[in-house]
Amino acid sequence: MQTSSAIVLRRGTVLTMEPGQGDLPDTDVLVRDGRIAAVGRALDVPAGALEIDARGGIVLPGMIDTHRHMWQTAQRGYGSDWTLTNYFYFYYVNHVNLFRPEDIYAGNLLSALESMDAGVTTTVDWSHGLRTPAHADAALDALERVPGRFVLAYGDHSRGPWEWAGDFRDFVSRRGTGDGLVTFQIAFDVSDDAAFPEQAAFDVARELDVRVTTHAGVWGASGDAAIERMAQHGVLDDRVVYVHTGSLSDGSYERIAATGGHVSVATDSESGAGQGYSPTRRLRRHGISTSLSTDSSVAISGDMFHAMRATLSADRALGHLEAHARGETVVDNELRAADVLRYATLGGAEALGLDDRIGSIAAGKRADLVLVKNDRNPALFPILHPAGHIVQQAGARDVHSVLVDGRLVKHDGVLLLDARLAEARRAVEESLARVMKSLPAQDGSQPAGGRSAA
Ligand SMILES: [Zn+2]
Repeated sequence: MQTSSAIVLRRGTVLTMEPGQGDLPDTDVLVRDGRIAAVGRALDVPAGALEIDARGGIVLPGMIDTHRHMWQTAQRGYGSDWTLTNYFYFYYVNHVNLFRPEDIYAGNLLSALESMDAGVTTTVDWSHGLRTPAHADAALDALERVPGRFVLAYGDHSRGPWEWAGDFRDFVSRRGTGDGLVTFQIAFDVSDDAAFPEQAAFDVARELDVRVTTHAGVWGASGDAAIERMAQHGVLDDRVVYVHTGSLSDGSYERIAATGGHVSVATDSESGAGQGYSPTRRLRRHGISTSLSTDSSVAISGDMFHAMRATLSADRALGHLEAHARGETVVDNELRAADVLRYATLGGAEALGLDDRIGSIAAGKRADLVLVKNDRNPALFPILHPAGHIVQQAGARDVHSVLVDGRLVKHDGVLLLDARLAEARRAVEESLARVMKSLPAQDGSQPAGGRSAA
């Protein structure tokens, strides 16, 4: 099944995300040799093509998560009640040296499989636990075990990027290229140091022609001063992805907009941990390219349906709240379901510079596709507003089939990677047995050292 050179999704409702195209009911999508060969009604297909019955379902481009700390998935759910302060104390202060290459591998493998199962065909691994080259090898080894599209965003939060940017250069020359499904970014945050030592990391990014991803506008951690310093040194451009940004001023947004920068919004994380309010309304005012992300499964799963729903809810809630403060009533919601679906697909592709290859459904693009269909879920019937149904009604359990680069990785609700899942379970159990034994006793609601933090 996985080796069929041609696959056709028959008679689904296709949400192409192509500008001006709208929803296409009762439409086929033909995949050949890794690409979308045709989109249309009653398509002729090659003999032997695998046919997937998409009737009653919705076909959308593979979703794209532009910021996830995949290595932390081995501690899934442990930080469910954390603020950002709790998180910083746990990972950055108290246990910075706890995680071995094997722990990075376990988290990445589990997270990569979660992406495939949930229809997230591209995931940016914001990998800031790479303390040694062996950690980096482990991160990439895990991603290469899973046939998804990944961006390894190389980072090490325990050191300044000027200290490890050379390691990244060596890593890319040693491990680069491959099948093209795994590409690279460099991941670091800009400090308060007026000498701007981060220049060295920006220089390596330019030299290697990779994008920079950076947490920005994070309450109490990174603010307008970092954006101003980046502007002074001429490193703001359309190859920077700013993560969160909710605590930035309008002046910083103007700088990001003027230089074509992209923003990754992680609404669930921002609402609970306190980086700053989900900024989608402000990003629209400034015309800034927007994508979505899930941040870390230590608190929140990698389910992009939930990321879309949380973002739509936060955006609309703020609109109503602001209107009520003025004594007014919002008659029509400004942000539409189709808009957040765009954030989660084509917006992500734009952030990665891959929008000519993925992010929408059109002949010639790489075949990263998701069929949402679940006849066992009463919430999947009737479908009167397809984009709204994806955002407000469906969930990861409703992902019927997933293709990455034309390869079927999930079919009829079943992930076709059983051996990998078994390996991930063993690796995570082994990692947890050691990691948790190393932690001080606690009640599970607060990480050690987090209670008194400001
Ligand atoms: Zn983050």
